Amino acid sequence: MAQVVLERLTKVFPGPGGESIRAVDNLSLVVEDKELLVLVGPSGCGKTTTLRLISGLEEPTAGTISINGQVVNQLPPKDRDIALVFQNHALYPHMSAYENMAFGLRLRHYPKAEIERRVKDTSQILDLNACLDRRPAALSGGQRQRVALGRAIVRQPKLFLLDEPLSNLDTQTRLQMRNEIARLHARLGSTMIYVTHDQIEALTLGHRVAVMEAGVIQQVAAPVDLYQHPANRFVAGFIGSPPMNFFEGTVLGKRDALVFQEAARAGVTESIPITVQMDNVSMPALRGYVGKQVVFGIRPEDIACSPSQSNTAPGRTLEAVVEIVQPLGSETYLHLAGHAGSFVARVPATDHFDVSQRLSFLFDMRHAHFFDPATERTIV
Ligand code: ADP
Ligand code: MG
Repeated sequence: MAQVVLERLTKVFPGPGGESIRAVDNLSLVVEDKELLVLVGPSGCGKTTTLRLISGLEEPTAGTISINGQVVNQLPPKDRDIALVFQNHALYPHMSAYENMAFGLRLRHYPKAEIERRVKDTSQILDLNACLDRRPAALSGGQRQRVALGRAIVRQPKLFLLDEPLSNLDTQTRLQMRNEIARLHARLGSTMIYVTHDQIEALTLGHRVAVMEAGVIQQVAAPVDLYQHPANRFVAGFIGSPPMNFFEGTVLGKRDALVFQEAARAGVTESIPITVQMDNVSMPALRGYVGKQVVFGIRPEDIACSPSQSNTAPGRTLEAVVEIVQPLGSETYLHLAGHAGSFVARVPATDHFDVSQRLSFLFDMRHAHFFDPATERTIV
């Protein structure tokens, strides 16, 4: 059982040119007991450093790490009762799967019968019974990763830290292992912090997801909240695939209505800037932005495309030319030529579109997002 509290945690490394690298910057986060929290962010944003700080492999420059109310900054790694599973799960090549799992317990002088019981139980959970006698070279990637997990599980730690444990696996095995980790977490009932750069993995696995960028936590929320209510433009663009489309422009007041007018680009004559009317939900927050620049964001699934050019809703439909058609089977991604670059719409797989075809489309403004271009914060 473990609750983890990070308070203003900071780690500064000396860079190669004498500069300082703030790998983790003033990070505060509470991970509740039995929670599966996913820390997600692009490569180099400080995820591994955060885990190394929690486990004690790295000493913080500033801030505190508490486990169950006790500050552990001064506690050596071996006394923190934490298991860390890495992407490169260096198993001992000369040992069998069984010995690899038993090794840590032997080092800690557990009784033989206890070691045997724990390894047998764990290999049962991880479906490794058939390969306990095999050495790592004779195991598949997925099996090796399971042995690495098993090595952590047999210790029955109060906290699991998993650092991109599935990134070396092929897609199929990764999906399967992801489900196994979710099941394992439910079964073990222990606290887990799971690190990944893959936002889909984060959304599907996390009870809550912490999005990190440049050493700073940008937002912590449940997956659906993160998707529907991103706190800023970074989170909006990072969470979701294909990513949210962004358009730069200005808010204009027109009688009772507010309109977003895309910025015109010099020299572009083949397309006109988009103009869309705000809906009632967005309006109040945007009144203060009349005459100012904003960024309009809309997700690919909130763009409805119609092959015909008939104006079903006069003044509200827009037109674009299809650049790329990407059928995924269950749905299709359409890349459309916009005024400032292309943007993506998700359409039903049964709708037919051709490259170079002109179509009319409609933004679902109930799901529009607006960001302040100076602070990148969400306006609404
Ligand atoms: P992530 O795991 O999110 O990819 P890391 O925590 O590994 O990111 O690294 C964060 C930043 O800190 C990167 O800029 C990385 O180069 C730097 N960094 C990590 N470890 C060290 C170190 N031991 N010495 C110097 N810089 C480091
Ligand atoms: Mg890393």
